[in-house]
Amino acid sequence: MIVLGIETSCDDTGVCLFHSEKGIISNVVSSQVKLHAEWGGVYPDLAAREHTRNIIPVLDRAVKEAKVKLSDIDAIAVTVAPGLIVSLVIGISSAKALSWSLKKPLIPVHHIEAHIFAIFIEQEVHFPFIALVVSGGHTELYIIRGFEDYLYLGGTLDDAAGEAYDKVARILGLGYPGGPIIDSLAKKGREVIKLPRPLLKDRGKNRFNFSFSGLKTAVMREAQKGIYRKEDIAHSFQEAVVDVLVGKTVDAVIEYGIKNVVVAGGVSANSRLRERFQEESQKTGFSVYFPPLYLCTDNGAMIAYTGYRRFKETGRTTGLDFEGKARLRLDRFVDYIRRGAG
Ligand code: ATP
Ligand code: FE
Repeated sequence: MIVLGIETSCDDTGVCLFHSEKGIISNVVSSQVKLHAEWGGVYPDLAAREHTRNIIPVLDRAVKEAKVKLSDIDAIAVTVAPGLIVSLVIGISSAKALSWSLKKPLIPVHHIEAHIFAIFIEQEVHFPFIALVVSGGHTELYIIRGFEDYLYLGGTLDDAAGEAYDKVARILGLGYPGGPIIDSLAKKGREVIKLPRPLLKDRGKNRFNFSFSGLKTAVMREAQKGIYRKEDIAHSFQEAVVDVLVGKTVDAVIEYGIKNVVVAGGVSANSRLRERFQEESQKTGFSVYFPPLYLCTDNGAMIAYTGYRRFKETGRTTGLDFEGKARLRLDRFVDYIRRGAG
């Protein structure tokens, strides 16, 4: 079976053709990074305009590179939530048009679900596992008990981890997106400032919640003093973020006695986060899994694969009248599509 996956939730236009036996047979991503770099962040109207311009060329390239005909496609999967609504609707409309004209089923996929399940494209992980999702718009902890069996443990009360990286990079005048730049700059620095580890020691209702907005403000105050090198600020900031992300995940591992951890989303590309998780996994005794770098940030492959898996495991498809949702938590998305809204 061949599933075509479309991703347009933020600023990347991604289309992938996934073959049930051969795996990914094409995966094209058109990034808008250069465009948004000028502004230091994603501008929804600009993003939507670029998706409109790119979607058909990206689709065309993906089909050509896969060396298949449109009529060989068995199903179309698309990101329906969450994301910028003006961006989501372009992928959704294109997927609906394809589904309608090719007379093939349409499969709804949740963007965060796809970030998590991207891990299975290249390796097997046993359920249950703890999923730490760290991306541009999300920082969340889940217990993944099986496909479509998701328990939400907590999430960020304000900024996401990736957002904090991007904002700190802007404060330091480093460019966009900030994650990869801070990742490499931090290697040249030392932890000269002891920054706060927000909510790390919280044993109450925020035990599995996160908060990065105060940390960003603390970085701003330190940077304004004008006495620290950028590499030292970057290093100090990264140590604080990584401490919180690793610390809370390890707490969840211990609390629930779960031995597998999957780290997903754009920030899972971070080299220090990977290093610290490897160390902790040996110390505490759990296995940690990271997707390969090309599957960490947004791409169509994770959508095509998750759509394929949904079709195979539940046979769930959707009518052509569903709408996208800017905000919809993963566990609630499952209820949403089970009710047939999807
Ligand atoms: P969401 O998935 O929450 O809707 P998004 O799709 O915009 O948001 P992703 O594409 O998953 O986010 O990830 C992008 C984020 O990952 C950016 O904030 C970027 O700075 C961050 N990022 C990418 N590489 C790294 C890295 N090496 N270290 C830290 N952060 C990184
Ligand atoms: Fe994403």
